[in-house]
Amino acid sequence: MRVLLHLCCGPCAIYPLKRLRAKGHEVSGLFYNPNIHPYQEFRRRMGAVRELADAANFPVEIERKYGLSEYLQQVVFHEQERCPICYEMRLVKTVETAVAQGFEGFTTTLLYSKYQNHGLLIRRCEQLAEAHNLSFVYEDFREGWQEGIDSSIEMGLYRQPYCGCIYSEQERYDKRWKKRRKAEAAARAALQSQ
Ligand code: SF4
Repeated sequence: MRVLLHLCCGPCAIYPLKRLRAKGHEVSGLFYNPNIHPYQEFRRRMGAVRELADAANFPVEIERKYGLSEYLQQVVFHEQERCPICYEMRLVKTVETAVAQGFEGFTTTLLYSKYQNHGLLIRRCEQLAEAHNLSFVYEDFREGWQEGIDSSIEMGLYRQPYCGCIYSEQERYDKRWKKRRKAEAAARAALQSQ
């Protein structure tokens, strides 16, 4: 099957690409991630995708436009829902591209990450597949988590330290913010248990 693989970054694509090819699919990639900030980080991740594409003889379409405004216009005032919104932006673009370019199926490297909402991704991909008359090519790519990490280190690919958006960058580095979030969650849980 001709499959369009949405790419969140280079390292996360290694294992899914290997698995899809092993199953006999003809795989092309789409890098479309308006969520990645700031600009230098976006460029680094785009560069890693290019390196992988060259090394693996992997045809990839790259959206070079930096999506700061596009992403924030969707997410601001809806920060609690930012991940589903972020998935939606990227998955919709992927299925639209797949339809426009005559692919039979699609999937996403977001299914490789242990940190994403796997169940939500599956549900939304299934809905989009049905609505666009495409096959959603599912596999639990998380099984290759360590293999993908090892391969990316061997290849010397840039490995990102946080998910992508500016909010996740703060979550990664701001220890006081993390503590506050933990305390808020504990307070909410205590209230719910009363
Ligand atoms: S944490 Fe990751 S998935 Fe969630 S909105 Fe930010 S970049 Fe997107």
